[in-house]
Amino acid sequence: MTIPRNPRLPNPTGAGEGDFAREWWASRWISVIESRGLASRLNQGLRYARARRVLQIEIEPGGLEALVQGSRYEPYRVRMRIKKFTERQWEKALDALASKALFAAKLLVGEMPQNIEEAFEAEGLSLFPQGPRDLTTTCSCPHEAHPCKHIAAVHFALAGQLDQDPFLLFRLRGRPREHVLRALRAIRAAGATGQPVPSSKAGPLSEEMDRFWDAGKGLDSAQVMVGPPAVSASLLKRLGVPAFWKPHPEIRGAMERLYAKVTERSMALAYGGEGTSSTRSRRSRKR
Ligand SMILES: [Zn+2]
Repeated sequence: MTIPRNPRLPNPTGAGEGDFAREWWASRWISVIESRGLASRLNQGLRYARARRVLQIEIEPGGLEALVQGSRYEPYRVRMRIKKFTERQWEKALDALASKALFAAKLLVGEMPQNIEEAFEAEGLSLFPQGPRDLTTTCSCPHEAHPCKHIAAVHFALAGQLDQDPFLLFRLRGRPREHVLRALRAIRAAGATGQPVPSSKAGPLSEEMDRFWDAGKGLDSAQVMVGPPAVSASLLKRLGVPAFWKPHPEIRGAMERLYAKVTERSMALAYGGEGTSSTRSRRSRKR
């Protein structure tokens, strides 16, 4: 996956590293790196990243390559290698993620659940790099200091990309977004029994015409679930802010507040202001 040259990194108007690590998972990346002896280089790296000297980042399963414009004409090449999970480790990690409905719900709308690390820790794994053997970095510059400011700049540029797409963390550990989502859906669909969900068998339409409009057996006992979504404003988060709203970034917060109000009002309408009970039979709803 190549992120194009001169990527539109966040507008460097604010102060602090928040520009490049607005989401918790991206700032967690920076704090992990900081704790690994890069603290003295972070400010220089941040300046480089803000000046958009990170010209290109190519993120692949297991690492990345980046070009950083230093003081010489030819950009320096920065490489990072992160230990990929094995097939077996991924199986365990995906099972752990899929076993929690909220984790799966958040991931499916493109958010990183706050306590996702617990799921990995339970399997003896870590999503974020842990030690020197977990993450290695090199830079083609002649500077003696390692890690150098070019490497630090790439960490910030990476944090900026993580803000936009938390699934890059999975990619670095070896699995692209589509694989993770497909596996989560499959495990969730298989359910607790581990058996695939049977698909409904319907005959040709011409043979079903006389009972096409029949409700069929069991409709009366169907349960209608009304409850607040596991992730609020999930559609907005999944699809992003529409292009015509782009000049008004505040619209996202306004829409999120609006969605929360709609949820609150819907719950009040469904349950007469009682709040949070979640099921009611179809029959009793009709009364
Ligand atoms: Zn360097």
